[in-house]
Amino acid sequence: MRRPLIAGNWKMYKTIAETRHLVSELVPGLQAVNGVEKAICPPFTALLAASALLEGTDIRLGAQNLHWESSGAYTGEISPLMLAEMCHYVIIGHSERRTYFNETDEVVNLKVRAALKNGLVPILCVGETLRENEAGRTAEVVTRQVREGLKGVDLASEDAPGGPTDPGLVIAYEPVWAIGTGRAATAEGANAVIADMIRATLSEKFGALVAQGTRVLYGGSVKGENAVEYFSAPDIDGALVGGASLKAADFIRIVQAAAGG
Ligand code: PEP
Repeated sequence: MRRPLIAGNWKMYKTIAETRHLVSELVPGLQAVNGVEKAICPPFTALLAASALLEGTDIRLGAQNLHWESSGAYTGEISPLMLAEMCHYVIIGHSERRTYFNETDEVVNLKVRAALKNGLVPILCVGETLRENEAGRTAEVVTRQVREGLKGVDLASEDAPGGPTDPGLVIAYEPVWAIGTGRAATAEGANAVIADMIRATLSEKFGALVAQGTRVLYGGSVKGENAVEYFSAPDIDGALVGGASLKAADFIRIVQAAAGG
């Protein structure tokens, strides 16, 4: 029903030259895998180069952030209108942006709405910190981030990009304590958060059809070696991959795992 998606978050890595090299290594391996949607999210400066190299392939391009206005006096910012010329996806609310750039739920919500309005598919990141996890606050935090991030968004309407069975939105459950730490969540634990907290909140807000149609990814130290266990969990529809998306062989291996081997 839900097509798996593996998206690579390159973070602040790769120059244009390095991007050309990595994309040319990725394309043949990724193109050989069917039944899985693949996307890469390089830094802004490398999007155009990547987009040229991905032309004619089924590999989608995403950005890692955006401003919510279409244009204006916002020095240093990039608008959804600019990204829509090249990108299909945009990562919003990554924990690094929430932590280092003070992105609040309110800002995340403005960005989600701007992305949808401009035909971009948001990959909305949610997840609890280690302290919140240890304090037993995972449900409260994750539910709040989903609810607030999607405030004012009507995914059940006919206006939803793909209609209610493909709501044009992806959520990534990324426990902050698992990102870049090598300490991945268990598939069972991540699946429980996704089913009981994320899909339950989507269902409350938008109805069962949207909750069942929305792809929810797991992110946090996914590697070639541990990827396969996540993809057999019923509510995990793929992965948002950071570190392991920077090496072609590792990323291809994860995509192959999502395709069933
Ligand atoms: C991420 O940056 O979204 C991420 C999941 O990173 P890593 O895979 O390196 O933990």
